[in-house]
Amino acid sequence: MAAPAAPDYQAIIDRAYAKYKDLKEGKNADYIKELAAVDPNIFGIGLVTADGKIYTAGDLNSRVSIQSISKVFTLAKVIEEQGEEAVRQKIGVDATGLRFNSIIAIELQKGKEINPLVNPGAIAAVSMIAGADSAAKWKNILQTHDDFAGEILYVNEPVYISEAGDNLRNQAIAHLLFAYGRMYFDPVQATDIYTRQCAINVNARNLAVMAATLGNGGVNPITKKKVVSPETCAFTLSVMATAGLYDDSGQWLYEVGLPGKSGVGGGIIAVCPGKFGIAVISPPLNVVGNSVKAQKTIYDIVKELKVNPYLVSPKM
Ligand code: GLN
Repeated sequence: MAAPAAPDYQAIIDRAYAKYKDLKEGKNADYIKELAAVDPNIFGIGLVTADGKIYTAGDLNSRVSIQSISKVFTLAKVIEEQGEEAVRQKIGVDATGLRFNSIIAIELQKGKEINPLVNPGAIAAVSMIAGADSAAKWKNILQTHDDFAGEILYVNEPVYISEAGDNLRNQAIAHLLFAYGRMYFDPVQATDIYTRQCAINVNARNLAVMAATLGNGGVNPITKKKVVSPETCAFTLSVMATAGLYDDSGQWLYEVGLPGKSGVGGGIIAVCPGKFGIAVISPPLNVVGNSVKAQKTIYDIVKELKVNPYLVSPKM
């Protein structure tokens, strides 16, 4: 029997692009000053299949800072280097149910049972990444992002400088974790590396390749480089499913059924394991910090592709 025809990915993303192109809802993040100045009309979509086909629509030239989406790739690298048990013990993998930079979430559990995809756990993950000093850790993190993207990525220096001059809250988080013995490197330096990591510049195509690598068992479908193991991808995707969209993670999973991750730069990725990775960039956010347009776009595309794994045709 002939294999079923591949879906017409290009037509589906083009339709979603046309539908949401003119939507004006949400507001750029402004607690990092430089993000408020980003063009709110940037709107790009990328979809990359596990066998390396690339489909795009809209703006692929503009880059935005990756922000929280970076947490995923550093987490994957830490799992790869130290094993999933280390992450479970030294950070935790349960959703906090609170804002991404919540301090109460740390206090409630004395720094235990936090999550690598919200700020405290993400800074702890940075502190755990291999490297004898700050420079070596940063090199490892940037190389990991390059490998996932299959491209050399650069830091958006104005965004980094803007956030570094203003990240007292993240520093407080790192110090509080340190006080509880749950920060595994100098807290000031770990916060600085984390801030730099969040300022890595990406376009929708970069993010889609990164997502597709997670969806392809850790092998980059474009460069064919083995970045992390299939097991590492599975653990990482599970954390994304429970906590990838902050305190809207439940609603996201309810609607989309696929692991995703958002960032306050306006990007969102979603992964359909074994099939594809998708990414959308649109800077205006809703109140919890997720891109309004990116959420709607991914929701429509996933619905049309019928790839929600919880949606099955009954056997009669
Ligand atoms: N750099 C941002 C912060 O730490 C990342 C947050 C985000 O994307 N939600 O506040």
